[in-house]
Amino acid sequence: MPRIADITQLLEAIAPPALQEDYDNSGLLVGEPETEVSGVLVSLDVTEEVVDEAVAKGCNLIVSHHPIVFRPLRSLTGRNQVERTVMAALRAGVGLYAIHTNLDNVAHGVNAMMADKLGLDDFAVLRPAKSTLAKVVTYVPTGDLEAVRNAMFEAGSGNIGDYDECSFSSEGKGSFRALEGADPHLGEIGRRHLETEARLEVVVERWNVGRVLAAMKAAHPYEEVAHDVLLMDNAHPTAGSGGIGSYDEPIGWEEFVSRLKTAFGAPVVRHTAPPTGTIGTVALCGGTGSFLLPDALRAGADVFLSSDFKYHEFFGTEGRITVADIGHAEAEGGISEWLVDQLVVLKDGFPNFAVLLSEVRTNPIHVS
Ligand SMILES: [Zn+2]
Repeated sequence: MPRIADITQLLEAIAPPALQEDYDNSGLLVGEPETEVSGVLVSLDVTEEVVDEAVAKGCNLIVSHHPIVFRPLRSLTGRNQVERTVMAALRAGVGLYAIHTNLDNVAHGVNAMMADKLGLDDFAVLRPAKSTLAKVVTYVPTGDLEAVRNAMFEAGSGNIGDYDECSFSSEGKGSFRALEGADPHLGEIGRRHLETEARLEVVVERWNVGRVLAAMKAAHPYEEVAHDVLLMDNAHPTAGSGGIGSYDEPIGWEEFVSRLKTAFGAPVVRHTAPPTGTIGTVALCGGTGSFLLPDALRAGADVFLSSDFKYHEFFGTEGRITVADIGHAEAEGGISEWLVDQLVVLKDGFPNFAVLLSEVRTNPIHVS
């Protein structure tokens, strides 16, 4: 049986926790990493009903998109829904794991799921993430270049968009003098040594720098490995907020609305004036997305699809873009199913437990 730590490792491979927003509280919220997992229940939100459902279905871990705990808990007295839900989970021995804005912020996450449902092509991140990339540079005797390069790739570096194993190497002369107490791989104590070395450069996501440096040092023949970690200002090509995609054959407004209702089960679409022409480009954001409206405008989208728009936020874009709001749970609901599919594939090494989709309706908003 897998431990909770094994499942969280699979989830972190889908969406690195470092990509969550500052205000978020994704990760393991209740439970101990060493606990064995009997089954996983996936849901959009956690409520007491979802905890009951997990117990009834033999699952002792709930993976939800929205974290039940957002603000620090000062007491556990059951005076509100959050406290009651956490207490129910503790009593039942059910772990709670949230994969929230980090799943919003990976290119294959919530927004890609929505774009798929709408049949959009050429999906890209709407606002690529900054301050997420670094470059690791090291200097390797040419005979050891490939071993070090491979080790750094295996540790998770060298990914750029749809490419992996990206690196650059150039040849030059390195110099060093081993001092008393050193045990040099090349050269002698007290004498300057010149060696033909390759300068190897590899791009690394900042949260992977430690792992890549460890792999680099393990594969490198030198006692002291000269290296630079350079923080990059480049935007991340496959991480960030929102998404944008297009229709090869633009569609009319009526057709678009009908897709929204069918694909997302949205009973109501609240929107600004429909576009006068057809819809070719759609920008979107799963959750509360009004902060991305300027990006959608800049990108020239015909429609910006999101949720939780307030009255005044619908103003000001007349004639430039149509804002459409299908509701928060409707926009993101499909992510639970998507997560079940991902976990079913990833759990290959642990065949003896189930990953189930919650059947509880957690959306508190009803439309009459
Ligand atoms: Zn949400």
